[in-house]
Amino acid sequence: MSDCIFCKIAQGTIPSEIAYEDDELIAFKDIQPLAPVHLVIIPKIHLRSLNDVKPENEGLIGHLFGVIKRLAEEFGVAESGYRVVTNTGTDGGQVVGHLHFHLIGGQALNARIG
Ligand code: AMP
Ligand code: ZN
Repeated sequence: MSDCIFCKIAQGTIPSEIAYEDDELIAFKDIQPLAPVHLVIIPKIHLRSLNDVKPENEGLIGHLFGVIKRLAEEFGVAESGYRVVTNTGTDGGQVVGHLHFHLIGGQALNARIG
């Protein structure tokens, strides 16, 4: 989508600190990190949210979680612990309308959500 900031990051037209990239996914550092490790992992195709995921996308989502697991190891939080979050829709606090997953760690996180 032409006016989507995360599509622009995926296309390289907006710069980002890329942590991982392949044909299907890109992971980059969040511009306003909530913790010492805060990555955003997105599919390159424009899906608005988890609500847009169809059965044919489920292989992609499985791959995405495998990449998240490896990034947690690479960024040194696999053992200490981390959180994976996908905000969905207005009440879910989604600001950017392109499906994305936050990988947050590197400090003890509040156990309560919301
Ligand atoms: P949300 O839609 O609330 O799940 O979160 C969107 C996230 O994207 C926020 O944590 C922002 O800090 C992050 N973000 C927005 N623009 C950029 C950007 N250009 N580069 C990196 N992260 C961004
Ligand atoms: Zn997009």
